[in-house]
Amino acid sequence: MTATLYAGEWQAAGACLSADPEIFFPVSGTGASAPQIEQARQICGGCPVRRECLDWAMSSGEMHGIWGGSTPEDRTRARRAEAARRRHARRSLQVTPGILAS
Ligand code: SF4
Repeated sequence: MTATLYAGEWQAAGACLSADPEIFFPVSGTGASAPQIEQARQICGGCPVRRECLDWAMSSGEMHGIWGGSTPEDRTRARRAEAARRRHARRSLQVTPGILAS
């Protein structure tokens, strides 16, 4: 990947800077792209800024490419799980009217 795709000072430490950028942008999340995704994940696995990269992809809503070892599908699942967790937490905090009146 090129540095222009990143946002943050951590970008310069990315293990992918010396890799073929195409590896990190597979055509799909399955099938013939699977070996490419695995190759990208292996590079990310040894990256010293993996957490920062993943956090950036999650917070920016990046919908394309491998970031922090995650595919777009991984990030979509994580966002949905987080949204469900927040909905559940909000419901848990809702107070039934009158429950504190006694
Ligand atoms: S985690 Fe992966 S995509 Fe992110 S900077 Fe490191 S090698 Fe590049």
